[in-house]
Amino acid sequence: MRKLDDIIRPEVLALRAYHVADADGMVKLDAMENPYGLPRGQVSELAAALGDVSLNRYPDAQATELKRALRERFEISEDYDIVIGNGSDELILLFALLVNRPGATMLGVEPSFVMYRMISTYVGMRYASVDLDADFSLPRERLIEAIEREQPALMFFAYPNNPTGNCYGDDTLDAVLDAAPGIVVVDEAYFPFSQRSFADRLARHPNLVIMRTLSKLGLAGLRLGFAFGDRQLLGELEKLRLPYNVNSLSQRAGLYALEHYAPLAAQNAQIRKDREALQQALAALPGVACYASAANFILLRVANATSVHKQLLEAGILVKNLNGGHALLHNCLRITVGTPEENTALLAALTNAIETST
Ligand SMILES: *Cc1c(COP(=O)(O)O)cnc(C)c1O
Repeated sequence: MRKLDDIIRPEVLALRAYHVADADGMVKLDAMENPYGLPRGQVSELAAALGDVSLNRYPDAQATELKRALRERFEISEDYDIVIGNGSDELILLFALLVNRPGATMLGVEPSFVMYRMISTYVGMRYASVDLDADFSLPRERLIEAIEREQPALMFFAYPNNPTGNCYGDDTLDAVLDAAPGIVVVDEAYFPFSQRSFADRLARHPNLVIMRTLSKLGLAGLRLGFAFGDRQLLGELEKLRLPYNVNSLSQRAGLYALEHYAPLAAQNAQIRKDREALQQALAALPGVACYASAANFILLRVANATSVHKQLLEAGILVKNLNGGHALLHNCLRITVGTPEENTALLAALTNAIETST
C-alpha cells in the first residue's frame, strides 16, 4: 500500500478532528444541552416502550410513526414532506451531497454554526462566506451582492444563530429568500427557545427548507434531526438518506417523548425564564458585555476570555471559549443556560475570574 498521505484527500489530512471537551464531573455549560433529564415516572415508561422494540429487525426505514408524531407536535402541514436525519448534522451533509455539482458553492455567514463549513470540506464543496456586521446582524447589501456574485446552490442560516444567539432581521432574511438562486435552509435548532420560525415562508418559496432537531430541547442523545419543506425537493434529498440512518431505539424513544411532551415543554419554558435572569445578572457584571439571546445559550465578551475560561475550568465549570475562532468573536465565551443552581455557580465563578484576571 502507498503512504496514507498519498491516498487520503489533502483537505481531510489538513482537518483537525472535532474536539469534544472532557466533561467528567464538570458543570457542563458548553454544548447547549437541556440540563434536566426525563422525570422518573417517564424513565420507567420509556424503558418499557424500548423493551418492546424488536432489535433483531431493521428499523422502519420510513420512520412513519416518528414522522407522524413530529407533524402533530410541531404542526407541520401535509403540504410539506419531512426527512429525518441522525441529528441535523447528518441533514446538513445530505444537503451538501445533494447540490455539490462541479463548481457549486455553499455560501455562509461568519461567525455561525461551524458544521456548515466543515461539511462543505467533507464533501469537497466550494465554500464562500460573508462576515456578519459587528452587532451580528446580516449585512444586507454585502450578502445580496455575494449571492448575486456566487450564485450559491446552498445557504444555511441558523435562526437564532449559533454562537451569537440572535435571530436575524426578518426583512433581510426575506430579501435573501427573494434573491437566492439555490436552496436556503433556515436552521431552527433553537426554535423551542426562540419560538420564532420561518415556516410561514414555505408556501411562497419552494427552495426554502426548515430544519429542526430534538437535540437542544432535551434529547441530544437520541440524534434526531428533521427537515421539512417542498415535497419535490425533499423527495430528492430522501434518495441520499441511508435507509436505516435512524435506529429503532431512537425512533421509539423520540416517539415516546413527542407523545408525552409536557415535561420537555415545561423544562424549555423554565430555561427561557432562567435565560432572562442569567442575562440580567451577566449584564450587570463589570467588564462583561452580554449579547441578547433567543436561544438556550448566551454570548459574552470579557477582557481575557482564555484566562476566564481557564479559571472557570478550575472551578469545575465548562463553557465554550470562542476566542481565536473569528475576529468578531474576539474574547468571547458561549455559556449554555443551566439549572438555576448551575447558573448561580457560574455567576459566582465568573465574578471571581473577572476580578482576578483584570
Ligand atoms: C447544535 C446545532 C445543530 C446540530 O444539531 P444535531 O441535531 O444535534 O445534529 C444544528 N444547527 C445548529 C445551529 C446547532 O447549534
